Amino acid sequence: KLPPQLQRHYRHTPGPSLSSLHTSTAPPAATFRLMQWNVLAQALGAHADNFVMCPKEALCWDTRRFRILEEILVHQPDIVCLQEVDHFSLLERVLGSQGYEGFFVPKPDSPCIYVPENSGPDGCALFYRTAKFKLIEQHSRILEVWRVQSNQVALLVTLRERQSQREFTVLTTHLKAKQGALLASLRNEQGKDLLEFLEQHRGGRPAVLCGDLNAEPSEPVYATLTQAPSLALSSAYATVNNGEEPPYSTWKIRGNGESKHNIDYVLYTSEGSSVLQVLGSLDHPSEEALGPGRAPSLAYPSDHFSLVCDFALPELSDDAQ
Ligand code: NDP
Ligand code: CA
Repeated sequence: KLPPQLQRHYRHTPGPSLSSLHTSTAPPAATFRLMQWNVLAQALGAHADNFVMCPKEALCWDTRRFRILEEILVHQPDIVCLQEVDHFSLLERVLGSQGYEGFFVPKPDSPCIYVPENSGPDGCALFYRTAKFKLIEQHSRILEVWRVQSNQVALLVTLRERQSQREFTVLTTHLKAKQGALLASLRNEQGKDLLEFLEQHRGGRPAVLCGDLNAEPSEPVYATLTQAPSLALSSAYATVNNGEEPPYSTWKIRGNGESKHNIDYVLYTSEGSSVLQVLGSLDHPSEEALGPGRAPSLAYPSDHFSLVCDFALPELSDDAQ
């Protein structure tokens, strides 16, 4: 009854290939695949978002849960960073059976709990493959704005890749939604808080900072995160696409019109001893593939597309770890 999943295409980073990352005597660089995805909270999608072009059955949980799991499992990520998770226990059970372990941090006052028949607050979740990584540390944070707690959260883990013994940190978040100058400056403050949180815990290790930042590249928070003097973060999708961010990471039609924005990112440390190399990424579905109803739809369970990137960890050197 369901149409096939939307077609996605993998794009390799122009320039250096994996083989050029190591010398012939050194072991191959360790690689990992990371998925970043705002899955669309069930409570919000079904009762708050007003997706007027989406068939009702595409928004019911019995349909969506399989499509969400399918999207995660088909791409075989080693690390999965999710936002708007309001069914963590199902994900934990299913992904647990597939070799992942995970964490969840709810938003302090999630809009989901105001929806009738909700399944609890939404929040950020992070899963990693236990066969590939050993967990070193895990932290969560309620993001602060001008020293006051906001309603947005972040989740951080430091992992050790078992074969290479290389360690790195992954941080995922979902920044404050909606447009306007005040909210853009609020997101910018949340971005500064994220950087402090990351610097507090990464201890000079390579790092990935990903999430639904709810901000186009023109917003201050994008520059705050990608041009911080203390930490060189690059955007993986821009690296793979010759420096250009994609035109959209979310594309939906609500009662008040069409909304098409690039607001989801995978940022990574790109300089010095903590350099990560991005090897490629999964393109977002084309306009043609999405069709006039955009997303979500029977062919795709969220209004945001998953971002999938492959990374290589740096060679171990005396001063690197
Ligand atoms: P945000 O502004 O960050 O938005 C929360 C969620 O709403 C996000 O997941 C966002 O999705 C989604 N969203 C954004 N735009 C729309 C839209 N046009 N239609 C539907 N959903 C949208 O909110 P906060 O986390 O700051 O929380 C909202 C506050 O509102 C809470 O503190 C809660 O107390 C209050 N609230 C109260 C309700 C009530 O009935 N009393 C009902 C709802 C909220 P995305 O990131 O994908 O854009
Ligand atoms: Ca949403």
